[in-house]
Amino acid sequence: MRGTGTHRSSDGVKPEERWRGVAVSEGSAVGRVLRIHSDARQQVYLAALEESEVEHEVDRFRAAMRLARRQLRGLKRRAELALGADHAYIFEAHLLMLQDRKLRDDVEGYVRRGRVNAEWAVKVVADHILAVYAEVKDVYLRERSADVEDVMQRILVALSGKDGHGARLLPDDAVIVAEELMPSVAAELDLSRVRAIASDAGGWTSHTAIIARGLGIPAVVGLRDMYRRARTGDEIAVDAFAGEVVLHPSPQTLEHYRASLARVAVPTNVSASVEDGVTADGEGRRETLYLADGDEVFLRANVELPAEYEGVRRYGARGIGLYRSEFLLTHRGAMPAENEQFTAYVKIAELAGVDGASVRMFDLGGDKTETEDAERNPALGLRAIRFCLRRENVMRAQVRAVLRAAAHGNLQLVLPMISDISEVRRARRVIDEEREQLTSEGHETGEVKIGAMIEVPSAVLVADKLAREVDFFSLGTNDLVQFTLAVDRGNDEVADWFRSLHPAVLRSIDMVMKAARAAAIPVVVCGEMAATPAYACVLVGLGVRDLSMTASAIPRMRRVIAGIDAERAGEVARECLECATADDVEELVRARLAMLWPHFFPPETLPVPIEVER
Ligand code: PEP
Ligand code: MG
Repeated sequence: MRGTGTHRSSDGVKPEERWRGVAVSEGSAVGRVLRIHSDARQQVYLAALEESEVEHEVDRFRAAMRLARRQLRGLKRRAELALGADHAYIFEAHLLMLQDRKLRDDVEGYVRRGRVNAEWAVKVVADHILAVYAEVKDVYLRERSADVEDVMQRILVALSGKDGHGARLLPDDAVIVAEELMPSVAAELDLSRVRAIASDAGGWTSHTAIIARGLGIPAVVGLRDMYRRARTGDEIAVDAFAGEVVLHPSPQTLEHYRASLARVAVPTNVSASVEDGVTADGEGRRETLYLADGDEVFLRANVELPAEYEGVRRYGARGIGLYRSEFLLTHRGAMPAENEQFTAYVKIAELAGVDGASVRMFDLGGDKTETEDAERNPALGLRAIRFCLRRENVMRAQVRAVLRAAAHGNLQLVLPMISDISEVRRARRVIDEEREQLTSEGHETGEVKIGAMIEVPSAVLVADKLAREVDFFSLGTNDLVQFTLAVDRGNDEVADWFRSLHPAVLRSIDMVMKAARAAAIPVVVCGEMAATPAYACVLVGLGVRDLSMTASAIPRMRRVIAGIDAERAGEVARECLECATADDVEELVRARLAMLWPHFFPPETLPVPIEVER
């Protein structure tokens, strides 16, 4: 939603523009736009360079061109061997483009004249060539634009692999503005320098939102068309309490923001108090936690990025309930090698300590990262376990890395988006084969329990059988809600239909808990429901005793868990299961929680919809 004010911006030139979106992480900030450009496979942003950096940038571009040519020659040789020389001509055409002097001069000229980063110059030059191709009448020639795009992608990948320039170029007042911030790009940005995030797409459970909340970065998503209007360097104010973003804020608006910033402590990376159980040395209490009537409850951490590691100890997480390993992929586009993964998993195991960590196999596809070809329905496409089984070499490398790392700590492996038991069996075969292979190679391996993520209705419906094939369940409520209610979790247009307390969702969770109990396997709930106190009460009522969430949510959740009891939570949950609609459940939960535990849930903290209850 957009509105143009009558006020002028603080530089007096542009009128102020306001947008309303969905606030997904608290806080407010004023800064300068850093626009992250997204296209089908890469996200590219514009960064202004100092004069002294320009020649280094040109060198970086030349090195990337050399790397891209080397890669292509290797590919061409392999294609000749595998397919015959006739079929390798396409690489010849790409090589010719990479050797084209004009292309090189155009990009270098743009870097020098515009004093911009090489990625941006490549994009501008490519867009220009593609516009020319689009005008061509000859169909064959017009279709060659795909080759141009391919070559440009190769250069961009080579550029990003050359060094971690993303962190170096981020200004310290950056407000990230994107159509949608891909995790693969987020992984490359130095988020500690980011003041706020504003994106056109996204919802409460999109990965942008999850990361922003984890790191305490104010974020507003679902802004529809704001990205198109913003330019890198524009002044911008983000109010993630009110879900508002102001471009070119007027002096009055800035004044208002600064006053409110002074009143509200902006959550920086992580913040906690002694009351939250954080000691002066930054170590949180890891002590045993019980419900008021006795059962033990485990609060674990969900982890994506190294920036979150500190929070795991600080907030006293009982291990890592979900490590989203796909965040190891950066927008280099390449899969991390086995050894690189091994190092990362050893680190995760160390961080988790005796309580252990669940490494989720790459959950690629959906909003996680772009697969090579755009899919019509990525959330239903070649993602997660399907991607792993299809790209078996990728899966084998990950399995090997996890098995080796498990010799150094307590690790489990969880298979994402299981929709059929045969996927578990196939994955288990690969795991057994790789263990044997590693042993024969003289590598040490550790015991690794295998779990299935329950995120798809078909997995719920066969949960009794599935429970006999795995060591534990990991309940991903973000996807479970998405797939049960057929509502895209990243589309703000349908955010009103994303109802975590829909009776169909609660009945599904109930079925899964019963199946797990009958087979005596544990269940950890790791979707965003687990991080939201009102929902967590219902989950406890359904028998959940293991919750995994962004680490900074743990202290508040610890207080709630210690203050509620299984018996009354169970009564509320049973009533919920009898409701006909999501409205009825929400109404009931609001009334019951406010009555039973008013100190945790005063009525005014349970707004409608309670999806965004804090
Ligand atoms: C989920 O779907 O609930 C989940 C934990 O996984 P992700 O959010 O990464 O899809
Ligand atoms: Mg999921």
